[in-house]
Amino acid sequence: MSAPAPAQSRREARPDRRGVLAGLAAGLAALAAPRAMAQAPARVVVVGGGFAGATAARELRRAGLGVTLVEPNPVYTACPLSNAVIGGLRDIAEQQFDYAALGAEGIVVVAGAAVGVDATGRRVSLADGSVLTYDRLVLAPGIEVRLDGALPGYDEAAAAIMPHAWRAGEQTLLLRRQLEAMEDGGTVVMSVPANPYRCPPGPYERASLIAHYLKAKKPRSRLIVLDAKDTFSKQRLFQQAWQELYPGLIEWVGLSQGGKATEVIAAERTVVTEFARHKADVATIIPPQRAGAIARLAGATDRSGWCPIDPVTFESRLLPGVHIVGDAAIAGGMPKSAFAANAQAKAAAAAIALLLAGGSPAPPKLINTCYSLVAADYGISVAGVYRPANGLLADVEGAGGTSPQDATRTFRAQEAAYAEAWFRTIAHEVFG
Ligand code: FAD
Repeated sequence: MSAPAPAQSRREARPDRRGVLAGLAAGLAALAAPRAMAQAPARVVVVGGGFAGATAARELRRAGLGVTLVEPNPVYTACPLSNAVIGGLRDIAEQQFDYAALGAEGIVVVAGAAVGVDATGRRVSLADGSVLTYDRLVLAPGIEVRLDGALPGYDEAAAAIMPHAWRAGEQTLLLRRQLEAMEDGGTVVMSVPANPYRCPPGPYERASLIAHYLKAKKPRSRLIVLDAKDTFSKQRLFQQAWQELYPGLIEWVGLSQGGKATEVIAAERTVVTEFARHKADVATIIPPQRAGAIARLAGATDRSGWCPIDPVTFESRLLPGVHIVGDAAIAGGMPKSAFAANAQAKAAAAAIALLLAGGSPAPPKLINTCYSLVAADYGISVAGVYRPANGLLADVEGAGGTSPQDATRTFRAQEAAYAEAWFRTIAHEVFG
């Protein structure tokens, strides 16, 4: 209505004694208030933007924490279904995702590589010399494909001739091109390492989809799978399917038949085993692996090359305040899979948020399902449930299983469709 009364205006401009005292009290109260009221949310740095790291970053951000994600590649190329790219059933673009959605949620995405961790000072150094401080650190660097002589002869130069394609991207395309260029009647040789390694059924899915391509386009060719093991994931299902779909095309040589590769000679495209030399026209070598290099540089790995963790919080057993999720972690019975990485990251993020709030996390129950394609319309799967027991993540007896051995082709086709649907769902959840 009208202008404020002059008396009131004066009081606002020149407070009386009571007002001064009240103002002083309020100011002192603000100064004495718990620091948390004025503080920024706790800072969590996540190293690695794969299935594990990107999931952890999103979950931590949704819990209200300040999150910085460190990842050198602007585009992530996913491994699940990358064997279908090698088999000519899928385009690599369908495997690729960026970090725009994470940035839009308020996650600070730093394009860089972590090169060192000071767990005492709670600092991560990056390759460009910058340093990030944290309250909690998540390491999710995936695997390092060993090119250091763990398999004699297999180094960086050999990988350019006999691709591993165990980190998806250029290696995947290289193997695809080599298969396309091979004459009909050629020999493809695969070598598979001993456990543990990323994606236990992955090599056999690859064998299947290479066979699928050869059967259709180069039917006089053959595939030899040299294995450092005598048993493998979903073995009966794979071998039954190979007999049904690719009779005489795939020769699997297990450890006790001399399947373990002892050396590769890249210039001759030859894989040497204890008993034989296998000359290939195309070779894909899946070498031994260990946790991504930053885990070792940080001091989070043990003599196995992988990271021991507490199965409830995923906190490193070697570095306090550092949590490790995904392939780099020793997760007991849980396989190194994208499904597992995603599940572990959710459990770890919940634990971290609770720990930062002064709580104590309860033991999680985790699920994993791995689909494998044996042909475009033929899928099989294995599932398991895991919980902490005796300091590790152990199988919950009777809670998992594989696809039925005697399923119909309609059932197998449905599982192939589920594989595709699972990938779309998880990719959308993690990166979309
Ligand atoms: P990654 O996905 O490898 O992510 C690690 C990230 O960390 C990378 O982006 C890397 O650039 C980054 N990084 C590494 N070092 C640093 C550093 N120093 N600083 C910053 N960033 C760093 N799983 C399934 O569940 N289902 C499947 O069907 C399936 N199929 C597969 C098929 C094949 C052929 C292969 C090879 C794997 C398959 N997997 C599958 C396994 C799955 O891909 C992995 O288990 C999963 O990618 C693990 O996620 P991660 O986040 O631990 O590692």
